[in-house]
Amino acid sequence: MVHNSLPLQWRKYPERYYLRGNYCENCKTSFFPQRQICPNCRRKGKLVEKETPYTGKIVSWTEVSVAPFGFENETPYFLAIIELENKVKILSQIVDSKKEKIKTGAKVKKLFRKISDIDPEGAIAYGYKFKVVD
Ligand SMILES: [Zn+2]
Repeated sequence: MVHNSLPLQWRKYPERYYLRGNYCENCKTSFFPQRQICPNCRRKGKLVEKETPYTGKIVSWTEVSVAPFGFENETPYFLAIIELENKVKILSQIVDSKKEKIKTGAKVKKLFRKISDIDPEGAIAYGYKFKVVD
């Protein structure tokens, strides 16, 4: 099984880099991370892969002043729970935004940014972040 011998990062590539979720055509519900089975419809569900929307709004947020290893140079930074246009909620860092603009209900859009120079698997990790839009 070649597929299973790939490093986790590469197996996760589409989901992690493009924030790719899926969508049940039966009950019209979106999911992220992707589900194998629709929790609403079970066997009647019809899941299709779908990229999550680029925009959403902040549901709640926090300022992080003590960072985990590898992120020390980035403090303080902001983490937010974002509700995307398709109602999926995700946790993301908020970047390129003035603190006074980071608030509940603020509109945000998706960006791709470097997350860490040192990835556990030796690659530079990129991923999604969000920015407040006016
Ligand atoms: Zn469903």
